[in-house]
Amino acid sequence: VSTAGSSGNGRRWVRLNTLKSSQEDILRALEKEGFTYVDGEHDLSGKAFILDRHIPNLVAIAPSVRIQESTLFNEGKLIIQDKASCFPAFVLDPPSNPNTHVIDATAAPGNKTSHLSALMQGRGRITAFERDRKRFQTLKTMLERAGASNVMPKNQDFLSVDPNDVEYANVTHILLDPSCSGSGIVNRLDHLVQTENEGDSETDKRLEKLASFQLTMIRHAMKFPSLRRLVYSTCSIHAKENEEVVIQALECDEAIQGGFLLEDRSKVIPAWPRRGMLPEGIATAFDPGSVIRCSPEDGTNGFFVSCFIRDGTASAPSK
Ligand code: SAM
Repeated sequence: VSTAGSSGNGRRWVRLNTLKSSQEDILRALEKEGFTYVDGEHDLSGKAFILDRHIPNLVAIAPSVRIQESTLFNEGKLIIQDKASCFPAFVLDPPSNPNTHVIDATAAPGNKTSHLSALMQGRGRITAFERDRKRFQTLKTMLERAGASNVMPKNQDFLSVDPNDVEYANVTHILLDPSCSGSGIVNRLDHLVQTENEGDSETDKRLEKLASFQLTMIRHAMKFPSLRRLVYSTCSIHAKENEEVVIQALECDEAIQGGFLLEDRSKVIPAWPRRGMLPEGIATAFDPGSVIRCSPEDGTNGFFVSCFIRDGTASAPSK
């Protein structure tokens, strides 16, 4: 997945890393570096920046600014991260108390992991799984750079983790951002080709394989006995990897036995207008308003976010 923060509409998104400094101090330092705050509706030029109205501690600057040359960037106080890619951790909303245990199931390169850590104010703990050895090294570097000291990175396949291991008995929140087609990434021109090719059998086969893997990952996450909240996201524009996977997940044994349903729209960034789609030809009670879509028209990458919660009235999950 691309972590580049530049995604159309003349904006590049940069997250203020509050693990390193307060928002106030970072903004003051930005102004010392010649940046000027302008209000949200302005076109960005020169070193103007705006504060985002959906995600706290997120600013947009003009893509032409060489932010990598900024001292703040080199100190790890600025993280280039597309706005849409900030939605999953924000929607997961982990508590910032010392007893919280969160899993990031598919973590590298790690921007969502360090965002989770910042939302938890470095309290509690995050176990971050990454199965690919090379990407795992990147994950470790990124976490160190961000000062995400409450994260324990593990070079392990999430599917090999035993949900009933006592180590994970208190995991209440899981972020699941698994491999996908990447068709929403703006700077990848092949997404245009993929859209045109939807319906061609090679593309369909690839999407089916990805969707089956994504569903397996969700079902595995739902087996964690104390899980209360699970965010599933992709940087894909295909309903097959998004709404269709969510609909199947809601109907799987783990969801039914564990009492998982979709979080209410009012708790999934209600002010964000672009919501999910109702897949054609599928009879379902699924409310597309309960999930989020992002598009380059919103100044972000194409993206999808959903949030499952355990219904408090359901019985305990079977082991
Ligand atoms: N959340 C990351 C971020 O924001 O920086 C991006 C995650 S990327 C879309 C998916 C990652 O999951 C890849 O690095 C891939 O190697 C890893 N992955 C895929 N399947 C996995 C599995 N079964 N267990 C652990 N990691 C896995």
